[in-house]
Amino acid sequence: MIFQNHTIEFDPTNCVGCKMCYQACFIDVIQWDAENKRPVFKYMNECEHCNYCEVSCKKGCIKVIVNWESQRFIQSFDMYK
Ligand code: SF4
Ligand code: SF4
Repeated sequence: MIFQNHTIEFDPTNCVGCKMCYQACFIDVIQWDAENKRPVFKYMNECEHCNYCEVSCKKGCIKVIVNWESQRFIQSFDMYK
């Protein structure tokens, strides 16, 4: 696995439990807390920083913070030699 170390800020203040962020994540980074009707960002090491969750939240609760130092961004063609 390529280490990425991205983070997501989640502010539940305006969250209405619409589940759009959960449905937007095409992998299983976001799990759903049915009892509290809130997303749970559980598997952050799998996050692909696609920002779908952030843009799908019309309440502005989510901010994806990309780690530009992660190995995904600093790999070069040298690794294919
Ligand atoms: S940025 Fe993309 S991969 Fe990461 S939690 Fe959001 S929707 Fe899922
Ligand atoms: S999309 Fe936004 S408002 Fe809807 S459940 Fe997710 S965080 Fe809450």
